[in-house]
Amino acid sequence: MEYPNLKEAQKRSNKKVNYIKYELDDKYQNLGKNKKYYVKTYGCQMNEHDSENICGLLESIGYTKAKDMASSDIVILNTCSIRENAHNKAFGMLGRLKHLKQEKTDLIIGLCGCMAQEEVVVEEIKKKYRNVNFIFGTHNLYDLPRLIFETNTNKKTNISVLSIEGDVIEDLPVKRVNNFKAYVNIIYGCDKFCTYCIVPYTRGKQRSRLMEDILKEVEKLKQDGFMEVTLLGQNVNAYGKDLNLGYDLSDLLQKVSDIGIPRIRFITSHPWDFTDKMIDVIKKNSNIMPYIHLPLQSGSSKILKLMGRRYTKEDYIRLFDKLKKIDGVAITTDIIVGFPGETEEDFQETLDMVNYCKYDGAFTFIFSPRVGTPAERLMKNDHVDLHEKEKRLYELNDLVNSYSLMHNKEYLGKVEEVLVEGESVKENQLYGYTKTNKLVNFNGDLSLIGKLVNVKITDAKSFSLDGELVE
Ligand code: SAM
Ligand code: SF4
Repeated sequence: MEYPNLKEAQKRSNKKVNYIKYELDDKYQNLGKNKKYYVKTYGCQMNEHDSENICGLLESIGYTKAKDMASSDIVILNTCSIRENAHNKAFGMLGRLKHLKQEKTDLIIGLCGCMAQEEVVVEEIKKKYRNVNFIFGTHNLYDLPRLIFETNTNKKTNISVLSIEGDVIEDLPVKRVNNFKAYVNIIYGCDKFCTYCIVPYTRGKQRSRLMEDILKEVEKLKQDGFMEVTLLGQNVNAYGKDLNLGYDLSDLLQKVSDIGIPRIRFITSHPWDFTDKMIDVIKKNSNIMPYIHLPLQSGSSKILKLMGRRYTKEDYIRLFDKLKKIDGVAITTDIIVGFPGETEEDFQETLDMVNYCKYDGAFTFIFSPRVGTPAERLMKNDHVDLHEKEKRLYELNDLVNSYSLMHNKEYLGKVEEVLVEGESVKENQLYGYTKTNKLVNFNGDLSLIGKLVNVKITDAKSFSLDGELVE
């Protein structure tokens, strides 16, 4: 039984990263024959893409997708531990599954993702949620067939969570959510250790995929008719740094662009690793979308230092000004309020930065202490109560939303290229995204899903645009 350990997970060494090709053991091949699966995903795009691999693995051993949890033979919860409410949601779901398992005693329940990498969580599950059959971590998705096999042969909670720095596993089966937009991992893990963040512990050391493997995947996606790829990583701008093979994100972006997929996105960018060469490649290639997510976290250099972000507000502004020169670019951000030690003046500096950058959008959060991180220990310096933090968050959101609306209004009357993604909640309406990642709703036929269309923008709200299809 391999058990999670946060202290081990924190270690970084010069150990060589192994690049391993996945192969399914014959003895697992028919484990899921005539059975159905349900995968519930929490958290970021990285988790969404891991779930695509989990579904791929389940289908490779014979399972088919269930329409809901009640009709499934196996339920996998792919969890997130970035903030406490993500934790609570997953535990709430485990509570609901307890009841389902009482009705359906042979239901298999598995838990994976970032929560599985935390020993406090695994202890709690072992004590209070004995209905969970197995737990596996972010480093060993490939172990899923074996864990199902073990569950069929023993009655224990099987735990398989590696606290190693991590390897790179290629050729995992994948079942993509749709056939026109794809996530492609380019770098795993994170070595930044921002003091509030659990990710470097739960996702391991920063390790880039080899460029040739990424290009092979993108070429296949192009052949299969995909219209958009999003290159994924906790910090995509650090791509290649750990490989020492003489290439970085700018080289990768150029090569991916040359393959000719109509739309290329990349997320997330840490301001620390953004180079001028990367900006030039974005400017030069029309199929690299003019959309950048550039987390600020705080507008106060004092708080940024406490967060371990490695840039000051002046550094951020210098980079922001350069990025703004990309033609038609939209820039969004992440901001945390209520970090331990954040004074009213620090918060005011965050508002000042939002007034300067006038972001197209922002994800905003109240600081949530994560067990084992340095910022958790800073909580003794935290003299601001939750009510005040909520007030700061609302004030920030009002400001952020006013700039989102301002930018959206700039689209009124313009014709925008939209990649149609699906049916909108409103009847007879479709939705899709502009090059700058703006959500657009418009009337159209379902046959347009997966296609690029032109839409004239007729109305602008804070979080979306309305439009009319242009023939
Ligand atoms: N790697 C990205 C970066 O460097 O910005 C983002 C990773 S994280 C999945 C997404 C966002 O969650 C972060 O940008 C941060 O704003 C927020 N976040 C992370 N840890 C947090 C915490 N302990 N409390 C509140 N928000 C947090
Ligand atoms: Fe977390 Fe910072 Fe790494 Fe982003 S860069 S994943 S916020 S430690």
